[in-house]
Amino acid sequence: MTRDSLFTASTPHTRDVVPVLVPMPADRAYSYVVPDELAVEPGSVVQVPLGPRKVAGVVWHGESDAVDAKKLRAVEHVFDCPPLDAAMRRFIDWVAAYTLSPPGLVARMALRAPAAFDPEAMVEGLRLGDTRPERLTDARGRVLETAGDGMAWTRSGLAHAAGVSAGVVDGLVRLGVLEPLLVPPRPVVPPPEPGYAEPSLSPAQAEAAETLVEKVREDAFSVSLIDGVTGSGKTEVYFEAVAAALREGRQVLILLPEIALTEQFMDRFHVRFGTRPAQWHSEAAPKTREKVWRQAATGAVRVVAGARSALFLPFRELGLVIVDEEHDPAYKQEDRVFYHARDMAIVRASITGFPVVLASATPSIESRVNADRGRYTRLRLPARFGEAALPDLSTIDMRRHPPARGGFLSPVLIEETKATLARGEQALYFLNRRGYAPLTLCRVCGHRFECPNCSAWLVEHRFRGRIECHHCGYGQPTPEACPECGTLDHLVACGPGVERIAEETDKLFPDARIIVLSSDMMGGTKRLQRELAAIADGEVDIVIGTQLVAKGHNFPMMTLVGIVDADLGLSNGDPRAAERTYQLLGQVTGRAGRTGRASRGLLQTYQPTHPVMQAIVSGDAESFYEREIAERERAGLPPFGRLASIIVSAEDRADAEDHARGLRRAAPADAAMTVLGPAEAPLALVRGRYRFRLLVQGPRTADMQGFLRATIAAGPKMRRTVRVQIDVDPQSF
Ligand code: ADP
Ligand code: ZN
Repeated sequence: MTRDSLFTASTPHTRDVVPVLVPMPADRAYSYVVPDELAVEPGSVVQVPLGPRKVAGVVWHGESDAVDAKKLRAVEHVFDCPPLDAAMRRFIDWVAAYTLSPPGLVARMALRAPAAFDPEAMVEGLRLGDTRPERLTDARGRVLETAGDGMAWTRSGLAHAAGVSAGVVDGLVRLGVLEPLLVPPRPVVPPPEPGYAEPSLSPAQAEAAETLVEKVREDAFSVSLIDGVTGSGKTEVYFEAVAAALREGRQVLILLPEIALTEQFMDRFHVRFGTRPAQWHSEAAPKTREKVWRQAATGAVRVVAGARSALFLPFRELGLVIVDEEHDPAYKQEDRVFYHARDMAIVRASITGFPVVLASATPSIESRVNADRGRYTRLRLPARFGEAALPDLSTIDMRRHPPARGGFLSPVLIEETKATLARGEQALYFLNRRGYAPLTLCRVCGHRFECPNCSAWLVEHRFRGRIECHHCGYGQPTPEACPECGTLDHLVACGPGVERIAEETDKLFPDARIIVLSSDMMGGTKRLQRELAAIADGEVDIVIGTQLVAKGHNFPMMTLVGIVDADLGLSNGDPRAAERTYQLLGQVTGRAGRTGRASRGLLQTYQPTHPVMQAIVSGDAESFYEREIAERERAGLPPFGRLASIIVSAEDRADAEDHARGLRRAAPADAAMTVLGPAEAPLALVRGRYRFRLLVQGPRTADMQGFLRATIAAGPKMRRTVRVQIDVDPQSF
């Protein structure tokens, strides 16, 4: 098969000059000449020269700039992969326009598996062809002899066996003497079978599943929200939608917030469909990603489970997207292209015209409002599946039950833990703070250890013997003497992190098997997966963890969840603080009692009457949402109003501030829009760059993007030293 034969099936659209979107922060597609021997169409993935480099770009739609074709450079190569279809290209344009990002940067997210563009990536061996070289050197002779057995060889294997350099082998490949063996790629996973193991659903599950299956059959744009308490069996319900989509011959994307830690999910999928889904996340090996990319594009892969970036895979027949834990902040990317994968999933579905399913025990305020207004279909699962009951939740008033001196665990929690361990069950202590202590200071002079690059304290990691910045990665061995006054051994750790709680727990329960789980643990994802499995298998008594343990896991023996500091996160001044805390606490306490044993959740708090604590303890989600929604509406905050933030940063503080002020002055006069700031951003210094922030607020109907574009256009000329980042729908504000 020649390289271009793929395209002769569709009508070849040969043009002299085409726009090509290159994976760069360019505002528009660049023009390239198409040589006669190449045929391209909109969506073709091509190689083009860009400055001194060669890059993979996409032939775009629309007119190319009317420039003199003689001055243009030429498309060098058309990759043998399916072109990005019109819906995918519209999606890229849409995301770019919405987030105010250069389309090239968005396209880059869709092209994140370069080698997958060409089947040569699938060369699985070399074999002797019919041609013989004109000039037969000794070395070449040995290669011919070795390869003469008709077997397929790898390049290095053949060179080694023949006792020649790999260059000799390459030379023979160039001459056509050795032929690459193109093995059709093995599918990354066998196709899932929709009828492999159908569960018997509870009546509530069956009703919800039926609605979803109908939506899938309609094959039109719709959004459904499965709003079901932890353990209600939401996964089982949306699996029915997945099965329906597979039966309809459509591909499915399941978005998960923490793909690296979802072994249990993969296993459940296997049980239901007879195979695992293909996985897509940034930690996957490049070879795996190339295959998944290509097979999503060719349609060989039917279901992908992935992190937010999987949304930009060029699926050929996508017909359903599931967004599990739709409220999770991990869906927001805050880097280069600032986008929310849940929201963009809905956009992708509306462009192509297929259903989206959101699932959560604690939906985002945005999704709840959309459901209340009838824009989304709300499917409720108010009870846990089967025998399992929700944990019995209560607060521990820390003013009345204070911990022992130097400790952080209340006697109430300690007693309950003893009882739990005595029953042979497990406890989880949750504290959303990595390391040993969030702040270290000198008892003598009061010196505080601060990051030299960020406005942040250095966090002590005692297990590693270091103090580190959680924003830029700066770190140093924990000093013995104060750098300010020189006093030895007078540094004190202030406040707890998970390591410190582990130390306390260890003293309290010397015989218990204790494990600390946080994302900075040594050993990475593999080790985390092993430890999560160990917990599920009952090899651990007390788990001490950050939000990593909050998500989705099923630990059958876990019957006690203690929240070490339920107030953490409530006091940061962010209007979303209550919502986030509610979601996090709901998620964590939801780890308890998932298999029918009586279970408890205890929240250590200094504000037991706070609405968030009340909502969690009473289980009265409805009044919490009503109150939060009313508050947002009153303040004109999302989803009732629109927000965007503009962050201006520079190494020089004055440069950043000047530019931010200039933008403020440049904002068009518009009575509907409010511009706040510039003020120092919540983290005023990050990685050596000073940051100022402008907040733009407007009504729901405002043309926020138009306003931002006008502001930037009329703003000060960009200087090299200044960086401007725009965040439409910021998650914290
Ligand atoms: P959620 O995602 O709502 O927290 P899960 O889907 O994880 O809940 O379900 C909770 C537990 O109940 C899991 O162990 C799951 O295997 C089990 N479960 C849910 N629905 C069914 C069903 N219909 N049949 C058998 N087991 C089920
Ligand atoms: Zn730092």
